[in-house]
Amino acid sequence: MNSVRVRFAPSPTGPLHIGGVRTALYNYLFAKKYNGTFILRIEDTDQQRYVAGAEEYIIESLTWCGITFDEGVHVGGPFAPYRQSERKAIYKQYAEKLVEIGAAYYAFDSPEELDSIRKQFEEQKKVFQYDIYTRKQLKNSLTFSPHETQQWINSGKPYAIRFKIPENREIILTDLIRGEIHVNTNTLDDKVLFKSDGLPTYHLANIVDDHLMQITHVIRGEEWLPSLPLHYLLYEAFGWTDTMPQFAHLPLILKPDGKGKLSKRDGDKGGFPVFPCNWNNADGETYLGYREWGFLPEAFINMMALLGWNPGTEQEIFSKQELIQLFDLQQVNKSGARFDPEKAKWFNQQYIRMLPEQELVSKLIPLLDKEQLPYNTLYLTRIVTLMKERITFVHDIITEGRFFFERPSQYDETVVKKKIKPSAIDILHNINLKLKELEIFDGNHIEHSLQQYIQQSGKNASEVMIPIRTALVGTTKGPHLPEIMEIIGKEETILRIEKFVDFLKKSVYN
Ligand code: GLU
Repeated sequence: MNSVRVRFAPSPTGPLHIGGVRTALYNYLFAKKYNGTFILRIEDTDQQRYVAGAEEYIIESLTWCGITFDEGVHVGGPFAPYRQSERKAIYKQYAEKLVEIGAAYYAFDSPEELDSIRKQFEEQKKVFQYDIYTRKQLKNSLTFSPHETQQWINSGKPYAIRFKIPENREIILTDLIRGEIHVNTNTLDDKVLFKSDGLPTYHLANIVDDHLMQITHVIRGEEWLPSLPLHYLLYEAFGWTDTMPQFAHLPLILKPDGKGKLSKRDGDKGGFPVFPCNWNNADGETYLGYREWGFLPEAFINMMALLGWNPGTEQEIFSKQELIQLFDLQQVNKSGARFDPEKAKWFNQQYIRMLPEQELVSKLIPLLDKEQLPYNTLYLTRIVTLMKERITFVHDIITEGRFFFERPSQYDETVVKKKIKPSAIDILHNINLKLKELEIFDGNHIEHSLQQYIQQSGKNASEVMIPIRTALVGTTKGPHLPEIMEIIGKEETILRIEKFVDFLKKSVYN
């Protein structure tokens, strides 16, 4: 095999959907596996759909994912420029060449004329296509005389260049994931290759660039499968069949219920992002990204890699190196991959558990600072150790473990009503007396002292522990109590218990 050259070729029309991230990831894994070259090409020939900031967003998001490029808009390379709007001058000659050899033609119909024909078709319950049947009745260089054609072109009036689909040929296309696909050319339409605005369409620019950039494999989303016959015919018309890349069309990422393509709306409904990073759109709306949601990039790409591929084993956690080694286009599924937000979160949980404590601490500190929560650095490692098995995101340490950093601002009403008896006031009072006596205020000593109290008083454990926990945490959740007490310290523990006693006396059992 020639040395592998693959590209990710997004159009900067908005934030990159996670489906696009997966396409980039599979290209990246494939390139790395074969020591190939991975290229970022920006396909921005559709000026109407261009969105400012989208290119930067794509680069930033992929960089966050750890998906790196060997050539591209942002890193340069031997085939620069890699932004199609900067390659404008290249495409026209290729379109003209196809006209010259009879594989394409000039089309003079105005958008209004085509619209009105489309309407006439609709009235007869038919769908209009510019194709081998209709082109014979339309305004183009196939129906105009050479003189009329020349006159039109010389007059400076707008025209497009369309591909002339060959009549009635059975073509066999090969897709690395889907196998052979048979198509009769009569079903295809004469797509515009070059527009009246002087820019190529996606089809022309994409084929010309893949050829010039010596792309060996095109790995892209399934939505491009219907374009594959045209792309084959374009390679053939140019005489580039020998070096035509191999194609692999990736399955869609489906909604959680499996019905249809995963959209932003599904994310909004289900409370999960469908974008890698936050995106601020022009109306001031912010779309949530996995990065800002709290995903670790390694967890995110592991989760993405398994949406549509698996190596055929039970293994689910893969390092990037393992993904590179194991990735295989043959093992990409043909059918859509259902997105499961709970499973997505599971990946982040696993990666958080695998993270060394010190790293968790350094991720936690900026979050604490942002919320201006006080903390004692000495205890942060203990806190993350206690919390890491219980959380999905680093910031859950704060939402689930706020009591480590500040006194509860209120007590869980149901717990107070249902689980705390009037006897709690005395119990808490006595516990505080015992705690005050402790000279060494660490988990073991606290534990021992609490157990001793339970035994001596003859109370049952929950009658003692629930009020203490409520006093310290505000509710019945959280890790082992003596640990919490040691971390927040003797003084604070005693104070929280006193405050809770006051609260019970004033507001509950007065
Ligand atoms: N510009 C196309 C897109 O945004 C690229 C498709 C392809 O990879 O050929 O999806």
